[in-house]
Amino acid sequence: MKRTTTALFCCLFAFCSLVQAQKAENVIVVMMDGLRWQEIFHGADSLLCFDTTATYNRKYIQHRFWAATEKDRREKLTPFFWTTLVSQGFIAGNRDLGNQVNNANKWWFSYPGYNETFTGFPDSSVDSNDKIYNKNETVFEYLNKQAAFKGKTAVVGSWDLFSYIFNEKRSGIYVNDGFRELPGINAKEKELNTWQQYMPDLFHGGERMDAATAAIAMYYLKQHHPRLFFLSLGDTDEFAHAGEYDFYLDAVYHADQWIKEIWELIQSDPFYKGKTALLITTDHGRGLATGGGWKHHGDKIPHANEIWMAGIGTGIKARGELTDKETTYQGQIAATIAELLGRKFQPAHQVLPALKLQ
Ligand SMILES: [Zn+2]
Repeated sequence: MKRTTTALFCCLFAFCSLVQAQKAENVIVVMMDGLRWQEIFHGADSLLCFDTTATYNRKYIQHRFWAATEKDRREKLTPFFWTTLVSQGFIAGNRDLGNQVNNANKWWFSYPGYNETFTGFPDSSVDSNDKIYNKNETVFEYLNKQAAFKGKTAVVGSWDLFSYIFNEKRSGIYVNDGFRELPGINAKEKELNTWQQYMPDLFHGGERMDAATAAIAMYYLKQHHPRLFFLSLGDTDEFAHAGEYDFYLDAVYHADQWIKEIWELIQSDPFYKGKTALLITTDHGRGLATGGGWKHHGDKIPHANEIWMAGIGTGIKARGELTDKETTYQGQIAATIAELLGRKFQPAHQVLPALKLQ
């Protein structure tokens, strides 16, 4: 394993680009947990839309997300991706075109995926979703130690593991995850705190619904103007595990709309306008539509290491849907975040090289 990892680092270095035309002052990252590349590039899955054995509402899916061509289906499901993002940014991971994005870690589930994304280190010893404070340093923690980012770094997520993944005890980063409340300093915060309690507790107490998380994230961005911000949405993974493809697709569509809202905020708020990069990805893939594989992920599920990523904004060239026959890894995002900001991410562990965004 060690030899493989070293070879991977050497190989990827060849693709590393250190040249960026324009530096961003802020970076916002959005991740949708376990959202397959198949739905991003194909839209609603034809097999699952018409599966006569399905227990979810096929009629609803067909009415809401079905269209005759893949191109139309993906535009229906993720309209922001296939209008604004594809014309002004990039979308990577369409394996039909030979462009691949993968997990470099060998586990293909959440904590290892978020660890890889934000530490740049596909650490095989991070092998569970247990509430363990991350021993590895994230790029957020690293930059939060610098004066320019101190206290301007925040994480808002649906799943209550982010306070551990970003090691809030050690890093001092603001983390609002699970059903955590805002401090309640004004009427809006009190309203958001109350509202999240009235949403269905579908996910066993540890995870609030994305509608509440997204509302808190939008409020936080407008109120506090963090320079480094991560929004993590979890409905996609939860509904897929439950086999509810109708709600899974709804979750994808809603996420697309919230990303659009964030992009519109970036375009309209003088704090962010013209100086902010937005990166979007997922922590892991899932199995194929056949045999119910789409519900699951993990190293026993073939193809669950196949993911995607996208980006738009300052420092990111408009390259559209990528067709380069190359493979990139989610672990390259950590160094990319630093490089977009004109910094270098140099923690104690090895880091995969930054992505080529120009
Ligand atoms: Zn999962």
